[in-house]
Amino acid sequence: MSTTLEKTKVSNGKVPHVSQTYEIHRLEVPTTVDRKRILWIYAAPIVGIHILALLAFVPYFFSWTSVIVMLASIEIYGLGISLGYHRLLAHKSLKVPKWLEHGFAMFAACSLQDTPAKWVANHRMHHIYSDDREDPHSPMVTFIWSHFEWLLKYNSATRSITNLQKYSRDILEDPFYMKMEKTQIWPLIYLIHGIAYFLVGYGIGYWKYADHAQALQFGSSLFVWGVLVRTVVNWHVTWSVNSLTHLFGYRNYDTTDNSRNNWLVGLFAVGEGWHNNHHADPASASVWHRWWEVDLTYVVIRMLKAVGLAWDVIEPRHKRVANRDSAAR
Ligand SMILES: [Zn+2]
Ligand SMILES: [Zn+2]
Repeated sequence: MSTTLEKTKVSNGKVPHVSQTYEIHRLEVPTTVDRKRILWIYAAPIVGIHILALLAFVPYFFSWTSVIVMLASIEIYGLGISLGYHRLLAHKSLKVPKWLEHGFAMFAACSLQDTPAKWVANHRMHHIYSDDREDPHSPMVTFIWSHFEWLLKYNSATRSITNLQKYSRDILEDPFYMKMEKTQIWPLIYLIHGIAYFLVGYGIGYWKYADHAQALQFGSSLFVWGVLVRTVVNWHVTWSVNSLTHLFGYRNYDTTDNSRNNWLVGLFAVGEGWHNNHHADPASASVWHRWWEVDLTYVVIRMLKAVGLAWDVIEPRHKRVANRDSAAR
C-alpha cells in the first residue's frame, strides 16, 4: 500500500490532473500460480451459479418486483463489499460499531466473495504489488485473467496460511472473522439467505393471492432474480474493478500502476470505479475527488457519521492537506 502513497504527490490541497498514460507492459502470471490446477472450491460455485442464473430467461421466473428487488440488492450487497470488506476492513478508513462492521461483512459473505480475511489479504497484496508480477489479478497478464481466471487457478500465495497471517493478522484477531475462516461457514450463510429470499417471496405471494401456486411462482422469481442474478451481477461489478479500472478511463494521479477512473464502474460499484483516486490515496474513506466523481459508498459513510454510527473517517489527501495548510496559517 505504501508504494503508491509515497510516490503520489498532492500540492496546495488541489487534485492534480495527469494526462500522460501509463506504459502498458505484458506480465506473466505470478510465479506462485499453477495454471493447470483448477481451484474447484471457487470454480464450482462460480460456474454453477452462472448456469443457474440463466433461469432468469424462463418467463415463469420473471416479475417486475423481482427485477426491482435485484437492482436494490445490487447496491445493498455491493456496500457489503465496498464499505465492509474494502474501506472498513482492508483499509481501516473509518470506524463503526462492531455489530455494524460484522453486519456489513455478512452482506459481503452473502455476495459469495470469500471470507473477510482472505478477501482483505488478496486486496492488500494487490495494493502492494499493483500491476507487478506478484499482483494476484493484474490485467497486464490478460483481461480475462484479472476479471475471473485468477480466482479459478491455484495460487500458493493467496492460499497460504503464512500469507493470510501476514496480510490479515488484524482481521483474524477478531473472533467473529476467525470463526468464519476456521468453519468456512459462509457458503451456508449464502444458502440460508437464498432460502430467506424464497420464503419471504412465498409469504408475500400467498398474502397477496391466497394461492400456493402463485406464491411459489413469486418466491421462485425473487430467488432467481434477487439471489442468483444479483450474485452474478455483483461478481462482475467487483471483478470489473480489478479488470476494467486497470485498463480504461482517465487518471488524476501519476500512480505506479495503471489504475484509472472509470465512470461506468463507478456507477455500478457504488463508487469503487474511481480507482485511480483510490490507488493514489488508499487510506481515504472517499474516492470523490472531483465534483462528478460521485461516490455512493462515501454518501452512506457520511450518513452513518451524521447519526453517530461512524467516526475517525479519513478524508481524501487533498482535503487533509488543505485543512492542514489552513490550520497552519
Ligand atoms: Zn487496483
Ligand atoms: Zn483498496
